[in-house]
This record gives sequence, structure tokens and C-alpha cells, in this order.
Amino acid sequence: MYTETDYEVLTRWMINQFKQEGIYITNVYHCPHHPEITGECDCRKPNPGMILQAIATYNISPVNSVLIGDKKRDFLAGKKAGIGKNLYIQDVLRE
Ligand SMILES: [Zn+2]
Repeated sequence: MYTETDYEVLTRWMINQFKQEGIYITNVYHCPHHPEITGECDCRKPNPGMILQAIATYNISPVNSVLIGDKKRDFLAGKKAGIGKNLYIQDVLRE
């Protein structure tokens, strides 16, 4: 468990780490909800809310996109959002 502020600090650090390697992250989404505390939401995977938000914000073609996740819920969220190719991280490491 950590606070939203902790999350924001970690996220800024992560984005900067990638930037130092020449990788620019356009945006990071997160779900601040929990079903037992705030009730159900559209953004908690396997729901596709965060992906749909990114698709709308950046005019992304879901069919031509690739989602890489380390959980089954990532894969399911990608499928629900219409992402063309959804991979488990294990699949990526094998390719
Ligand atoms: Zn949420």
C-alpha cells in the first residue's frame, strides 16, 4: 500500500529513468480505485477504461496497437479495448 503522492514520485522517477535511455513516455495512467473501498470503476483492469482514455486522448488506432502485460487482467483489458495484439510479458521474452 502506498499513497497517491508516493505513486506520483515513483512515476516521475520511472519516466526520467526511461528518458535517460532515450525512451520518452507520453503518459502514464493509473486506477486510484478499489472495488471494496470506492466501488467498481471502468479503469481497474480487466476493465479497459485507461486504455480507452489513451485511445481517445491520442487518437490511437487500437487495431494497430500492441499491449504487453504481465497479468491476465492486462490481456483482458486490451481485448476489451479492441487492441489488435495483446501479449503476456512471457510471450515477449520468448520472441
Ligand atoms: Zn479505477
